[in-house]
Amino acid sequence: MTASLTVVDHPLVQHKLTLMRERDTPSAVFRQLLREISTLLAYEVLRDLETTLKTIETPLVEMEAPVLKGKKLCFVSILRAGNGLLDGMLDLVPSARVGHIGLYRDPETLVAIEYYLKLPDSLEDRNVIAVDPMLATGNSSAAAVTRLKEHGARRIKLVCLLAAPEGIKRFHESHDDVPIYTAAIDSHLNDHGYIVPGLGDAGDRMYGTK
Ligand code: URA
Repeated sequence: MTASLTVVDHPLVQHKLTLMRERDTPSAVFRQLLREISTLLAYEVLRDLETTLKTIETPLVEMEAPVLKGKKLCFVSILRAGNGLLDGMLDLVPSARVGHIGLYRDPETLVAIEYYLKLPDSLEDRNVIAVDPMLATGNSSAAAVTRLKEHGARRIKLVCLLAAPEGIKRFHESHDDVPIYTAAIDSHLNDHGYIVPGLGDAGDRMYGTK
């Protein structure tokens, strides 16, 4: 299978991303920008949702009009920074089901360690969108998607804000059937596993922690 990668280069996304990258952008503004960008990314990632026709009455006539088809979508937030992307996606699709996967990076090995898992039922019938702002080493996102597959998910996409080439490679080595959507591909990872130029630690920037 050919691994798919989409860079959402819409000027609004790029402008908001630049504001997020700036070191002096306050947490409240950072969170708001992330929410806005995630709505724009959702628009792109959901563009192939299937529709079916439903008979409705406008004030003038009866018509066949498109509505979303099938089981509800499922968004899965990879904690904790995934929650920043999740909120904007839920603004657009409030009826979507939501799952959470808690993973942290071991600071020494950068390996993803799971501490929490809660997923909706019938994942096999749903379009699953996993969200994680930073595709850095790719370890966390790859581990999360492995867990989703173990729970039956078959149609999965990954949405991130920033991706490092190393993370894209690592992720697609494990999951070449899962398309990646990102707002930008940055230069590289530094020795601590941070994306360069990046925006720092997304969770810390969102919540004002260090
Ligand atoms: N996680 C982050 O929050 N930032 C990075 O640059 C890499 C991983």
